[in-house]
Amino acid sequence: MLADLHSHTYYSDGELAPQALVERAAANNVDFLAITDHDTTAAFEHLELSNIPDSLQVIHGVEVSCLWESKEIHIVGIGIDINNAPLQALLKRQQTLRLERAVQIDRRLQLAGHTGLMRYLEQQPCQAISRNHIAQFLIDGGIARSKDHAFKSYLGDKGKYTAAAQWCEIPAAVQALHNAGGIAILAHPNRYPLNKVKLRRLINEFAQCGGQGLEVSYSNLDSDRMAHMATLCIENKLWASTGSDFHTPRNQWMDVGRFRHLPAHCADKAIWLHPDWPGRRPI
Ligand code: AMP
Ligand code: MN
Ligand code: MN
Ligand code: MN
Repeated sequence: MLADLHSHTYYSDGELAPQALVERAAANNVDFLAITDHDTTAAFEHLELSNIPDSLQVIHGVEVSCLWESKEIHIVGIGIDINNAPLQALLKRQQTLRLERAVQIDRRLQLAGHTGLMRYLEQQPCQAISRNHIAQFLIDGGIARSKDHAFKSYLGDKGKYTAAAQWCEIPAAVQALHNAGGIAILAHPNRYPLNKVKLRRLINEFAQCGGQGLEVSYSNLDSDRMAHMATLCIENKLWASTGSDFHTPRNQWMDVGRFRHLPAHCADKAIWLHPDWPGRRPI
């Protein structure tokens, strides 16, 4: 059983079209694929159901950016009704925040003599503008050497051109995903700049406000850290999720379907055992 419940297309900051993503997932033996673009479900409007390989089941999803104690936290929702109006209203607000943040960054870039960001962004197929796109603009313009450099020097928390966005709060995102029939999962817990105590508190608060899942296995997570995530998952009575967070075929370490099996001590909490597991209903 291979369930990749976290992946991106070019409707947010991924590189592939939805059709190319599902074909790649099927070729990598993925059984269930949740497409979880940042703050948009546009990919599903561009995916022809009849073209999905028979061996693969696609699950409707989204990854919502939230603010928690002024840190950016990501919540993945799977099995959502993409036509749910309140959820789409929340996503629309998030997309507007993304556009406004890009405008602010563009102003800062212009003051430093770098023009053309907004024109570049208009040419992208994305519906949700990400700092990943802006990082690519900085690389193409010779301003940054790499994505890492772009984030460290220019777009990260202490970056030269960075601008913050007032994302929604965690309880609002969890509620909206839940009301849209989905399961809310806290994404890549060890990637946040939080110490162990704060991470525990984040996971605990997430569970308290109705969050149901925790990503336990994902790309670039070694087995010791994964075992720790599994322990946190069990302690908080959450379901254990798996997902690559695939963005681009150019990064072989984050390929779709590429992550470890769940550790044995949380196997009975695997998210596909959840009573509302969306893999049981066809999209
Ligand atoms: P945003 O959603 O616009 O805040 O941008 C965050 C996205 O940028 C994440 O989803 C990652 O895909 C990407 N990202 C964040 N940090 C880095 C980094 N240090 N290097 C490369 N990509 C990053
Ligand atoms: Mn991303
Ligand atoms: Mn994320
Ligand atoms: Mn992601």
